[in-house]
Amino acid sequence: MEPGLRALPSVDQLLMAPDGQSLARHYGKALATGALRAALAELRSAIREGAPASAAPAAQVIATAEANLAAAALSPLRTVLNLTGTVLHTNLGRALLAEPAIAAATEAMRDPIALEYDLATGARGERDAHLRALLCELTGAEDATVVNNNAAAVLLALNTLGAGREAIVSRGELIEIGGAFRMPDIMARAGVQLREVGTTNRTHERDYRGALGPQTGLILKVHTSNYRIQGFTAEVSAPRLAALADEAGVPLLNDLGSGSLVDLGRWGLRREPTVAEAVAEGAHVVTFSGDKLLGGPQAGFIVGRREAITAINRNPMKRALRLDKIRIAALYATLRLYLDPDRLTERLPVLAMLSRSQAEIAAQAEALLGRANDALGASGITASVISCDSQVGSGALPTDLIASAALALAPPSTDGAAPDRLAARLRSGGQPVIGRVRDGAVILDLRCLRPGDEPALLSAIAEAVR
Ligand SMILES: *Cc1c(COP(=O)(O)O)cnc(C)c1O
Repeated sequence: MEPGLRALPSVDQLLMAPDGQSLARHYGKALATGALRAALAELRSAIREGAPASAAPAAQVIATAEANLAAAALSPLRTVLNLTGTVLHTNLGRALLAEPAIAAATEAMRDPIALEYDLATGARGERDAHLRALLCELTGAEDATVVNNNAAAVLLALNTLGAGREAIVSRGELIEIGGAFRMPDIMARAGVQLREVGTTNRTHERDYRGALGPQTGLILKVHTSNYRIQGFTAEVSAPRLAALADEAGVPLLNDLGSGSLVDLGRWGLRREPTVAEAVAEGAHVVTFSGDKLLGGPQAGFIVGRREAITAINRNPMKRALRLDKIRIAALYATLRLYLDPDRLTERLPVLAMLSRSQAEIAAQAEALLGRANDALGASGITASVISCDSQVGSGALPTDLIASAALALAPPSTDGAAPDRLAARLRSGGQPVIGRVRDGAVILDLRCLRPGDEPALLSAIAEAVR
């Protein structure tokens, strides 16, 4: 045997060395043993292939094992700095929750809670009851229920109201949103026949009227949240559709998508139809998301007339789509914040971020600029402050850009691939930073950068150019 191989310690010897013992204490014996064995095998084959024998093989193997264990211990669900300018970034987990919601979720995880238990009587309670009263108060609806997400809300509502019959929907509203949610496919899985009426750009009341008949289960209206049809267009308003539905004795389901509980116009954003408006317009059932503009955890809300909601709650699919206690607790705390709309922008992160002015963000960028250039050091990359556009994301207000400001990190322009390389290094550091590449620079939109995140951003920049 080669002397280099003969000098290698055994796994048992490594586990008895002080560093090996501390590795086993930290990661557990099973993981430490596996990592040491793998590191040993790696060194053995390197020596066989002619690598020079190590002067301190035990220390080398333990160091390799430790590095591999530390890397594997990092959760793949890393926290990142979202500097994409998209506030509700679906791939980055959509809404950040408010502190009271985080506290409520934590409590619900740690302690038993009165989830389906009536403390007054000691009898069994209902898990949706806590949310129902709040939702009715905030939306003006008679009744309300919650499920896993809005896709589930639409599926459940369609299946309950229209299985075996037709849902009439305008051709201009047959949406696809990301993640393979396509209205025609959801309808098929809900057991509802799609009855398209009108054309892509124009649908009239007579189109709906012509399609109504004994085979009709419901009329569906979909808020075309992620695109806008412009030009020569016509759609039938929700109040007119509700009147038509009442006349025909079928329900109107209005899928709002994002939906908002407050008028966003108040903070200078474009108005989205509010849920209360959709309810007041006469829809029998309104569906919307928990983790879009509402700013809570993933959930789907179904609010509307009592008869329809009762039928939806009786559908056996409801049990398969129901919410867990953690999210119910977080939703309850989130919805409570809406009872005090004046303080929403202070307390609800989604609204806090959306309502920041360009001037405020530009001032934050200017204040960071010197330190960003220090962090870039002698790399040849320069930082500057530019104006840019943020967006809401998740299909909400898709054509609306919100004026914002960014740090632009520009490598010397001679190397066209340099911005992509810099963006990749920013993504793969100890604190991943997600920006976007544009015009030869990495653009870091600071709309979603909280003051406490600034030191982490500066060290991430320094690490990326090291
Ligand atoms: C986002 C959206 C959905 C799906 O909502 P999720 O909560 O993501 O499941 C359904 N319909 C519309 C119109 C949407 O915008």
